Amino acid sequence: MSTIAVLPGDGIGPEVTRVALEILRRVRPGDTYVEYPVGGGAYDRFGTPIPDQTKSGVGQSDAVLFGSVGGPQWDGDKVPRDLRPEASLLFLRLHFELFANIRPVRVYPGLEEASTLKPEVVSGLDLVVVRELTGGAYFAQPKEFGERDGVPYALDTILYHKPEIVRIARVAFEMARERRKLVHSVDKQNTLETSRLWRKTVVEVAADYPDVTLQHVLVDNASMQLVRNPRQFDVILTENMFGDILSDESAMLSGSIGNVPSASLGRRGEPGRRFGLYEPISGSAPDIAGQNLANPTAAILSAAMLCRLSLGDSAAAERVERAVEAAIASGARTRDLVRQSEAYLSTTAFGEAVAARL
Ligand code: NAD
Repeated sequence: MSTIAVLPGDGIGPEVTRVALEILRRVRPGDTYVEYPVGGGAYDRFGTPIPDQTKSGVGQSDAVLFGSVGGPQWDGDKVPRDLRPEASLLFLRLHFELFANIRPVRVYPGLEEASTLKPEVVSGLDLVVVRELTGGAYFAQPKEFGERDGVPYALDTILYHKPEIVRIARVAFEMARERRKLVHSVDKQNTLETSRLWRKTVVEVAADYPDVTLQHVLVDNASMQLVRNPRQFDVILTENMFGDILSDESAMLSGSIGNVPSASLGRRGEPGRRFGLYEPISGSAPDIAGQNLANPTAAILSAAMLCRLSLGDSAAAERVERAVEAAIASGARTRDLVRQSEAYLSTTAFGEAVAARL
């Protein structure tokens, strides 16, 4: 029996998490689900976006099902920077060392027309982006924003240590073994020293996975290839900032940001049973929040990833994924996936359509 911490958060977070949780309860009825406050709502009630009860609840859980955080009422200077809703997510990533961000992007049969690319380019697309999440330019010191000799300047630092590259590369190669056995490692080794270390290290790690093909791509070329011929990719392995950008680009190939789930894995546990945080890649979508309009697919598929990667239950994951596929094949669509004037389902009705096909 496992314990899942459920952090619905703000905006559409509670709406889509409720649907995902309902489905998770159906495929994993023996598990314990405990809900905790997080984000802007938690700040309003407790004065912090990540209250102590949430921290300790997450610490005692096997996995976290996360919705989304943030909204205009907490933007700008309305809330001190370190108490903004998004600080909760950064805390969880750093505190639990969730270094591996995994975003699978699929185009489900029937949704080819929803993509902005031509159907023949995206049809059957199935790739996964493995992004390093706790290193690189976003975290390395020094960071400066100041003035020298009367001239404003800013400075960021990119820093990677070899063990950080080894551990994320292993995640990508392990994942490729379960898929089409192809890893594209993305870097900028013609100009960045960190990329030179990245490439050298990935080549060394690849020696342990002779059954997996490794290819190197420069990041500028990778971003071009993703819209030219995305089906050439199986597993894309990359560092934090490149992964941030390429994974959003990849997500859009699926037709809607509301389709794409994610996992952020840490060191705790072993392969197939790692502690992780699972969430839709989108934000809290304040423009549609509270209207039962959000697409819950990403949340449902995040729950499926949770079963596979943290609970070691691939059968439950496949059950959920097949039900989503069947619901879409039967014509179930939320508003983000239809043309104007076409009929669509509410968040809850889409969830029922999936649950009925489990
Ligand atoms: P967003 O992802 O919330 O929304 C962008 C657009 O996509 C909106 O038009 C929205 O309606 C649509 N959209 C998003 N998810 C959808 C879904 N499931 N179904 C249908 N449509 C969907 O990005 P934003 O508007 O830039 O950010 C809104 C808030 O979310 C901000 O406060 C931001 O800081 C926060 N945010 C949180 C996370 C997170 O919790 N991980 C991530 C990104 C942004």
